[in-house]
Amino acid sequence: TVTLDTDFFRRFLDRTTRVVVARAAYLTDLDAAIGDADHGANLKRGFTSAAEVTADGPAATPGALLTAVGVHLTNTVGGASGPLFGTVLRRMGKLLGEDAVVAPETLGRALAAAVASVRRLGDSAPGDKTMVDALQPAADAYTEALAGGGDVVAALDAAARAARDGAAATVPMRARRGRASYLGERSVGHQDPGATSSAMLVTALYEATDP
Ligand code: ADP
Ligand code: MG
Ligand code: MG
Repeated sequence: TVTLDTDFFRRFLDRTTRVVVARAAYLTDLDAAIGDADHGANLKRGFTSAAEVTADGPAATPGALLTAVGVHLTNTVGGASGPLFGTVLRRMGKLLGEDAVVAPETLGRALAAAVASVRRLGDSAPGDKTMVDALQPAADAYTEALAGGGDVVAALDAAARAARDGAAATVPMRARRGRASYLGERSVGHQDPGATSSAMLVTALYEATDP
């Protein structure tokens, strides 16, 4: 299994940065179809510049690290997704508190709290064709896997699969929040960019279990 220490969360952020850089054009293409074609660029800018916040700062605990990056994303990434992803990381950071090593159950509570914060801030729910459609199933699958006796690696694997399935399931949905909602019926048939990038983040969390 894996120790959920600061190194683990650094690996998560490194992998997230790598994937959003590698897939920036794809995310922007998804946003071109139902938004304003900036989602990949927004996340690429936010996560690459976040490396400056995390590289030199000591960020002694997982909570401090996630909080610092969350504040950075909220402040530097424009649009809807900056504050929303910023909220995910800040809320997780707060829930992780000052623990040097996070218990698997605590990570589950942090994921659930992060999704609840996004739903509150975005006034969004599953089925609205947003990042919530990836994040809510991921948090639920994680908690379920742990409750079923799985270890943290199995639970994160289940979360990542649920997030990717959730992102794919946004294709036939009609958007009810964000820019895509302005398109009404024409938003149907496209995968939501924020749900897609959210699935990449949850997958990065799973991949961080393999140092
Ligand atoms: P913008 O739409 O401001 O250009 P981005 O393109 O970076 O911002 O992000 C768009 C994504 O943000 C959408 O694909 C969706 O997943 C997410 N999003 C937008 N509005 C909301 C909301 N109210 N609740 C949850 N997620 C939202
Ligand atoms: Mg956009
Ligand atoms: Mg925009």
